[in-house]
Order: sequence, then C-alpha cells, then structure tokens
Amino acid sequence: MMKKIILGLFISVLISCGTGKTSKINQDDIKAKYAEEIKPDDLKEHLYLLSSDILEGRKTGGKGERMAVNYLTAYYEHLKLSAPSSYLDYKQPIPEVYFNGKSEGDSQNILAYIEGSEFPDQVIVISAHYDHLGMKKDEVYNGADDNASGTSAVMEIAESFQIAKNQGYGPKRSILFLHFTGEEIGLYGSKYYMQHPVFSLDSTIVDLNIDMVGRTDEKYKGKKEYIYLIGSDKLSRDLHKVSEQTNEAYTHLKLDYTYNEKNDPYQYFSRSDHYNFAKENIPVIFYFNGTHKDYHRTTDTADKIDFDLLTLRSKLVFYTAWEIANRESKLILDAR
Ligand SMILES: [Zn+2]
Repeated sequence: MMKKIILGLFISVLISCGTGKTSKINQDDIKAKYAEEIKPDDLKEHLYLLSSDILEGRKTGGKGERMAVNYLTAYYEHLKLSAPSSYLDYKQPIPEVYFNGKSEGDSQNILAYIEGSEFPDQVIVISAHYDHLGMKKDEVYNGADDNASGTSAVMEIAESFQIAKNQGYGPKRSILFLHFTGEEIGLYGSKYYMQHPVFSLDSTIVDLNIDMVGRTDEKYKGKKEYIYLIGSDKLSRDLHKVSEQTNEAYTHLKLDYTYNEKNDPYQYFSRSDHYNFAKENIPVIFYFNGTHKDYHRTTDTADKIDFDLLTLRSKLVFYTAWEIANRESKLILDAR
C-alpha cells in the first residue's frame, strides 16, 4: 500500500518536472532562466512527500528513511543525473551507523553528480541532510523544515543545473548534490563522507549546506525576506564576496550574519554538516532560517512552510553555485 502511495506521488512529480523549451536567449539572462526552473509547486511536492507521516520521521537507518532514499534515487535517475562511478545507484552505503554506542543499522548518503565541462576536477558540493528524528511512541517527527526543506531545495537546484546542461549550458566545474544521513545523531553522514570521499577533498572547493530554509523565526516575523548565512567569510573572503554580490544582483534577501559571530552562544557553525568540510579547510556557507517553536517537535509540519520564501532562498544557493562553477578563477582561500 505504502509503495503504491509513494509511486503515485512520484509519478505526479515526474509529470510536473518537464523541461522548458529551448529558445534564443540573451547570455546575461541564462542564469535567471534556469533559476526559474526552481518552482514553489515542485518544492511543495517534494517537501510534502518527504515530511509525510508514511515516512515516519526519516529516522537514520529506519524504514521511512529508506523510502526517502528511494524517492531521491528515483528522482535523480529520472532526471538522468550521473552517479559517481563508485556508487552507480547513487547510494554511498554506511554499513553500521552508531549513536550513543548503539547501532542504528545501516544507512546511506545519496550522491548525484554533474561533471564540469572545463574543470571537471574541481568539485562544488551542494548538501542537505535528509534524515530526521523518527517517531516517539506513535508520534511522527515530520521534520518539514528540518530538513525536508533543504532536501527539496537540493533536488530542485540539481534539476535546474541538469536542464541547463541538457540545453548546452552545463557547469564548467563539477557539482555534487549530496544528501546526508545521520545528521541528527551527530553529523554522522558527513563525517563518514569525509572519511570516504568520492572526490578528493583537495579538489573539493566549497560546500554550500542547506539546513532549515522554509520558515521565518521570531526576529523576522512579518518582516523582510531574509536568511542567516554562517561561515561564508571564515576560510575565503572570495566566497563571501561572491555570495554577497550574487544576492545583490538576483535575490535581494536580507543576509543576516548574527550567527556567524565567533561568540555566537548557539555555535551554529559547528551544528550542521558543513562543519566537517570546514574542519578540512574547505570553504562553506551554511544557509539557515533560525529556529522556531516547532524545532525538533512533532509540530514541524509541511503546512507551516513558506514556499515562496523557500524558492527564493533556493535560488540564492543556485545562483551562488552557478557563479562559483562558471567563473574564470577558482575560489581562493584568503581569509585572515
Ligand atoms: Zn537539520
């Protein structure tokens, strides 16, 4: 029965993700054209499915998480994204995931890939964790914001880059779309990836990590469209500049650096998967909407997501990645 539901929902996604028709376009508008492929309705479809009760809160190693895996891999297969040659089914298996010394069973990171046309050895990672807290008693922790929002964003960004590639505008540098498991039990999936990287860490030039981007926090209630950026200037001022310029040119979000402060009492810089990249001296940006009263509660549900805001934030990541992927010079490590 569940299989049928998943299949039905997936088929409707297939129908809704048809590619745009090629037309004569101005070079300057190319990016914007493909950014428009990130659509609120598509994000909504992914997010509602990923955070639905039948996925049982996507607990690492659990049945619901495996359903999310099936959804992600079927999606990338449908889009015809490449899988890294070492994991042709998009799955990087993790044989045994431990939490507090106890085995949670096996799980996997999901990896889809677009090879760069000019500098294939330079890899940009766009990441989000897809696991969440699972169930307690018979209550589901749906994790709509945390992190079905980031997962859906990565899926849509990947689609946009793939459509661009199909129409002759593939990225010059390679892009790896990376969905981590085990984030909620201690950044496990990203830790595992760093120990078993598919592309050499020396040639991994940035990680743009998305974790909770579908909501508004107390500070911004009823205010301007915003996003917290964390880490952007820590290893590369060059990256920080690209990110700022991109936003100024295309997305006009208020970029809030409150949590980027060294003395941030919440220490968000170390609390999601990008941190494992930063520790290896790879520049990162963490995209985050801040917390809210539904954080890590059963009330983090899909009906509370702002899909227009999620779309705009996804576009910021897309434009930033596009710039890093296509500009002449490689990002440099030039932080103080
Ligand atoms: Zn999260």
